[in-house]
Amino acid sequence: MAGSTPRRTAQTTWCGSRVLPRTAPPAYRHARPSSAPLAVDPVQASSPIQKAPPQRGGATAPPAPRDPARAGTSTRSGVVEEVGSDVRGVQVGDHVVLGPSYCGKCTFCRSGEPMYCENGFAELFGCRRPDGTTAFSKDGEMVGSHFFGQSSFATYANVSENSVIVVDKDAPLELLGPLGCGLNTGAGAVLNEMRPEPGTSIVVFGSGAVGFAALMAAAAVSCSTIIGVDIHDSRLELARELGATHTINSSTQDLHAELEKITGGRSVNYALDTTAISSVVRDAADALGTRGVLVAVGAAAPGEEVSFEVGSSLTKGWTFKTVIEGSAVPQVFIPRLIDLWKQGKFPFEKLVKTYSLEDINTGFEDSASGAVIKPVVAY
Ligand code: ZN
Repeated sequence: MAGSTPRRTAQTTWCGSRVLPRTAPPAYRHARPSSAPLAVDPVQASSPIQKAPPQRGGATAPPAPRDPARAGTSTRSGVVEEVGSDVRGVQVGDHVVLGPSYCGKCTFCRSGEPMYCENGFAELFGCRRPDGTTAFSKDGEMVGSHFFGQSSFATYANVSENSVIVVDKDAPLELLGPLGCGLNTGAGAVLNEMRPEPGTSIVVFGSGAVGFAALMAAAAVSCSTIIGVDIHDSRLELARELGATHTINSSTQDLHAELEKITGGRSVNYALDTTAISSVVRDAADALGTRGVLVAVGAAAPGEEVSFEVGSSLTKGWTFKTVIEGSAVPQVFIPRLIDLWKQGKFPFEKLVKTYSLEDINTGFEDSASGAVIKPVVAY
């Protein structure tokens, strides 16, 4: 059984950045400051309320839920163990990936755009279930749960049905955890928002998980010129492996001169910024040709602004879009990404390195240093 039971996984980054809460909500006495290393801490798991399908791991699962107050920064994959009485779309035994939560009731959710949920902040960062309870407790006191709709650095994740994406059982569960956020974001920006025609050109700024996902997606839909821009040669090397036809090191090369050379002076049709650095966003805008589309997906620091030249913008007829989580409906989009992976068109396994739970802090360190793009903790 141990050999055949899929392991649950949790990725240790959120859209390419560590998003550990700097301070936990005051009610959660058992939370640690974010500067402290992660530690395993047994807590009690409550029963599911309606619409709450918990999932558990296989034979490698540790005996108790782990540190959920600090745990919510991941997305994960796993096997459903129990479902709430109102759950209709998920069954015990289903293999699932967890994605961001959404309310399912607001205008945008009902219009097929759940990543723009009007109640998204509470769903993702409220650390409670809709009835005000949490999924975990310790010594009789509530411990925050459902961070990013998940709190999944734990043996059990107790989540809303809206966070759950059922996937094929023949897909390797130990690999699928990262699909719920960064990969979804980069691929969705290309496939759901840009929708580039075959033979068009795209430039992607930033080579983290989001940027790499975008490069892979652009290659999957046959963009003919796929340009990766970063300041690290090792990242650019990987970008080429994942589908970039050209790369530019913007710290050592003249970005716009290189772009002109690559495109034969025609500029690019599509640009994606994953950096949220205003000067880079401006570079991305300037890289576009007439009727070009720039998509920005990075989470910028408060107050970060970018300016564009109005006159030339008008005559260029270009589009600037901000996009959250790839504008995806996760239950539709993530299975599509898995299908692309099966066909070798979305080789995100090249980004993943697996760690044991005991080595979770090493995973965080490797992510922060850039040594690993997608650290995955296998239980
Ligand atoms: Zn909503």
